[in-house]
Amino acid sequence: MKKGYDVTIIGGGVVGCAIARELSRYDLFVSLIEKESDVGLGTSSRNSGVIHSGINYKPGTLRAKVDVRGNKLMDKLCRDIKVKMKRIGKITVAKDEKDIPTLYRLKEQGEVNGVPGLKILDQKEMRKIQPGVSGISALYSPSSGIVCPYGLTIGLAENAHDNGVHFHLCQEVSSIETLTDGGFMIRMKSGTRLQTQVLINAAGLFADSICRMAGIEEYRIYPCRGEYYVLDKRLNGTIKTLIYPAPRTDDPGLGIHLTPTVDGNILIGPSAEYIEEHEDYACTAEIMKSLREEGHNLLPDLQMSDFIRNFSGVRPKLTPPEVGGNSDFVIEDRRDINGFINLAGIESPGLTSAPAIAEMVLSMVGDHLPLRPNVHFSPDRKGSPFFFSELPEEEKKQLISENPNYGEIICRCEKITKQEILDAINNPLGARTFVSIKYRARSGMGRCQGGFCMPRITKILRDEFGLSPEEFILRSRTSPLFVGKVREGDQK
Ligand SMILES: Cc1cc2nc3c(=O)[nH]c(=O)nc-3n(C[C@H](O)[C@H](O)[C@H](O)COP(=O)(O)OP(=O)(O)OC[C@H]3O[C@@H](n4cnc5c(N)ncnc54)[C@H](O)[C@@H]3O)c2cc1C
Repeated sequence: MKKGYDVTIIGGGVVGCAIARELSRYDLFVSLIEKESDVGLGTSSRNSGVIHSGINYKPGTLRAKVDVRGNKLMDKLCRDIKVKMKRIGKITVAKDEKDIPTLYRLKEQGEVNGVPGLKILDQKEMRKIQPGVSGISALYSPSSGIVCPYGLTIGLAENAHDNGVHFHLCQEVSSIETLTDGGFMIRMKSGTRLQTQVLINAAGLFADSICRMAGIEEYRIYPCRGEYYVLDKRLNGTIKTLIYPAPRTDDPGLGIHLTPTVDGNILIGPSAEYIEEHEDYACTAEIMKSLREEGHNLLPDLQMSDFIRNFSGVRPKLTPPEVGGNSDFVIEDRRDINGFINLAGIESPGLTSAPAIAEMVLSMVGDHLPLRPNVHFSPDRKGSPFFFSELPEEEKKQLISENPNYGEIICRCEKITKQEILDAINNPLGARTFVSIKYRARSGMGRCQGGFCMPRITKILRDEFGLSPEEFILRSRTSPLFVGKVREGDQK
């Protein structure tokens, strides 16, 4: 009889979830352990959402290889798992003559990496693609695009779940024991134990801690924060393409850029700042000011008054602050610890690369376990790729006549209906925090940032799902929405 799982993945970010889905194509008993209350709450939801083309990475590196491959896989993947993506192209802008050699270097590098359609544009051609952009010339990469980052992670996870992968949420791995007769015993902070033949470390910012638990000492993650300034979707259409400055080689990121999101917001960022704490997601007034300035530098007419919020993400860097820049991804099948597949330093372009990293990891798993097809595998995630508000009027009327919950708006800014909230709450992973609902239904993403819909969602959770106020969680166990009563008396 089989003991425990065939494969266990630590980390429910986009990489862990892509691996889970890839493995679910095969007849394997797979589990994924995530310390948070849902998948994709770490770096995977806190990034630019850019599908990189592959111009920025040195030929021959793993980053270049998995980025270009991941980019190619993205259209079919997003169609199958019903995630929004758009190929909007990217311009890397030369502000002055000094930047021109960088554009030619990136073009040559991209061509060696196999990036299609690269072209140097003069100012007139550049402004035809993006009116008003400041600069003298640009490198155009048509295969660059945008994707909903948390949507991608959730889509991969839910499809993997439907194909048989077990998700253990709210479970933090605290120790790993290598068993003498093969495999691993994993212990969680909760006291739960789990046995597995093959163990995959996809713990992002904590990949080095997981390494140490397995007896690997050589990696250290240096957290490097990037902050963003978010503009309202009222400006949808202002930015036609991704707008990046020509990068500096010592920059730990790709420079502060302008990114339209798949839902029509505009992101300005990210900054790059080494920090002490791995999950310190603070945003600072000083950096917000510099983001506004950098945004104006690229597009002088951009209206900053439509600011709705800020957020930050943290890069899991393998290069210390005194070295800066970037190092290559680590994706290795450890020969010294049989069955331990280790991923470390998966910073940008990890979102784009996730489907290709998953293919690589699958072939490593194939060196340990037989890969027989899962005859029940379905690549298609259930549900509609569209929000109700995006449907034609006739279809909306039809849906409302069949189900009145489509006729009740819960989130006024994003026009999200009660049925969409119910569908989000009933997600296959069983995640029920406000952020889980927001990432699935888009409630609270608009101008009022949840002021209108949050009490209404609370009511749905109470009336229809029987949750008590103490169980209403914003994001994680440490962020309850209600901590006690302000006054006694019946709640109406
Ligand atoms: C500011 C910024 C901008 C970026 N922009 C882009 C972009 O535009 N395009 C692009 O391609 N890439 C981009 N990236 C990179 C991309 O976001 C990451 O490479 C990718 O999200 C990494 O995914 P992951 O699954 O490896 O890590 P994560 O998303 O960090 O997932 C790791 C998971 O492991 C869990 N975990 C950790 N320790 C434990 C434990 N002990 N037990 C259980 N679970 C644990 C964590 O909770 C987390 O959910 C950006 C990154 C940043 C920070």
